[in-house]
Amino acid sequence: MIPEIVAIRQTPKWQHELAAAITDPQELLAAVGLGAEWLPAARAAARTFPLRVPRGFIARMRRGDAQDPLLRQVLPLGEECQSAAGFVADPVGDMAAMKLPGLLHKYRGRVLLTVTGACAIHCRYCFRRHFPYGDANAAADHGAVAVQYIAADPSIREVILSGGDPLSLSDRKLTELVRALDVIPHLDRLRVHTRLPIVLPERITDDLVALLTGIALTPVVVVHANHANEIDAAVRGAVARLRDAGISVLNQSVLLRGVNDDVDALAQLSETLFAAGALPYYLHLLDPVHGAAHFDVEEARARALIAQLAARLPGYLVPRLVRELAGSASKQVLSPRN
Ligand SMILES: *Cc1c(COP(=O)(O)O)cnc(C)c1O
Ligand code: SF4
Repeated sequence: MIPEIVAIRQTPKWQHELAAAITDPQELLAAVGLGAEWLPAARAAARTFPLRVPRGFIARMRRGDAQDPLLRQVLPLGEECQSAAGFVADPVGDMAAMKLPGLLHKYRGRVLLTVTGACAIHCRYCFRRHFPYGDANAAADHGAVAVQYIAADPSIREVILSGGDPLSLSDRKLTELVRALDVIPHLDRLRVHTRLPIVLPERITDDLVALLTGIALTPVVVVHANHANEIDAAVRGAVARLRDAGISVLNQSVLLRGVNDDVDALAQLSETLFAAGALPYYLHLLDPVHGAAHFDVEEARARALIAQLAARLPGYLVPRLVRELAGSASKQVLSPRN
């Protein structure tokens, strides 16, 4: 029937890529050339938090190397099934800060909306890996309740779309939400926290850029890359499309043992991001979420790494080392101190 043909033709390429992501541990191991000895643990860990990784991201990994910094971020390991003291289900107090389903108002002047539970990639260290998204989605009612809350509080100047990954929503849903926010007179900025420009750069379409630039709010996109190898030509193209439209692009990373916990890796990440058009913003200490203890870098080592980085790079390429403290008025900046 004609309407179906039209619908198929109109499914954007990025949605095909999203649907084609690898979710079977066996398939991932085969794709990166690792043996079956990794499989039982991967299967067990994937039962606690499913595996998901786009094929384009896998293409940037080194074959046959279990220590590849990109693979380490997504390969489920046996360590995830072990408990560790202090590593809990909700490490940053999100449930307490949730004013409404999917609306977090922790800091003055900005609210964070979790608008979907879906991500294109499942990062094994994710602090929301145990988050009850089903009950916490600000977009479920087309944002109506969240919009009401924001409209009633003139101290709110900025809305952050988060998730999950907000850009995993369709353009139609995103447009609905953004337009509803755009008419609130006291809002100045719309921030999008997303890993999609890195892991599925096809998502940054002309239509999306037009949506973000066609509003009264000033758009800011905060991407999430942890290692320079994540940034390839397609990622540079995606960031360039945002930058060419006048959108500020920042990056946040998580300091992860075995991924980016050495000064060379951090320096290369900053330089590569800058060359692509994104400024380093935050380097987060790992949130102590259950199942991620094997990624932890001690605070003293983290401070030392940032000090070494600051001794090597211009100040604007040194991200702020931060930690999230439940109940605090902002992220806690550990270094550089201000
Ligand atoms: C991290 C975070 C923000 C943003 O903080 P900035 O310091 O402005 O980047 C806002 N709200 C919540 C709930 C957050 O966790
Ligand atoms: S993309 Fe972000 S929200 Fe999604 S799994 Fe990774 S860290 Fe978590």
